[in-house]
Amino acid sequence: MEKKENGEYLALVTGGGRGIGRAAALELGRRGYRVAVNYNTSAAAAEALCEELAALGVQAAAFKADVSRSEDVSALFEAVEGTLGAVQVLVNNAGITRDNLLMRMKDEEWESVISANLTSAFLCTREALRGMVRAKWGRVICVSSVAGLIGNAGQANYSASKAGLVGFAKSAAREYAGKGITVNVVAPGFIETNMTDALKENVRSAMLHQIPAGRAGRPEDVANAVAFLASDESAYVTGQVLAVDGGMTMC
Ligand code: NAD
Repeated sequence: MEKKENGEYLALVTGGGRGIGRAAALELGRRGYRVAVNYNTSAAAAEALCEELAALGVQAAAFKADVSRSEDVSALFEAVEGTLGAVQVLVNNAGITRDNLLMRMKDEEWESVISANLTSAFLCTREALRGMVRAKWGRVICVSSVAGLIGNAGQANYSASKAGLVGFAKSAAREYAGKGITVNVVAPGFIETNMTDALKENVRSAMLHQIPAGRAGRPEDVANAVAFLASDESAYVTGQVLAVDGGMTMC
């Protein structure tokens, strides 16, 4: 397919109202993509982001859906396609933590994290692929975590969901590489967002000591990696895991 201007591409960012998803939506908007912002709780944050994007001259709209639920995801794609058109770039960003030591972990803590972090990517990618296959062009970017690469005590559920995204992305990459569709993973390390604000001070300082770059990451650090994997320039990159972690893992 011929190279298009970014404005011809529509990017859907799940859980895009705040944190890493918000930064990714903004960066894609700055680079000229049209943006669909999915949220499940705070309409106000998602609407504010769309206004910020509109002020930059970017066509953007917010869509409510719990992306862990199949019927919500079908309705989400119907709404996005009806409003902005087919999705060419999908950023599977929505995620939660429900930390506990394995022996104490409740069924609900396991299931909710697998649903929000992993099943959501399956449901959204399955929907997005139909349009991408038709267009013979697509970019799927899954936001995993270094916890999915090296594990983390107290996060067996979260690490399993994030490692699952890696296997999921590699399999999808193999299935659709011949159709002009790439599927890649970004694995953020310790990034300053609401998710990490909840960490205790001793955990934060222990994590900072493990980062060769000597600082926590910013949502924008991850957004830049997402934007590269969303672009035409990454056409020959698929099934890869790009750690954005200040050198924390190097694996
Ligand atoms: P965050 O909590 O600020 O943002 C997560 C967003 O996902 C929220 O807007 C939330 O409402 C949304 N969300 C959660 N479940 C959803 C669902 N079922 N349907 C729709 N939206 C849903 O956290 P963040 O740090 O910005 O995290 C973004 C992604 O990056 C997550 O997948 C997270 O696991 C991953 N990550 C974060 C870090 C970090 O250090 N912050 C590190 C590694 C990976």
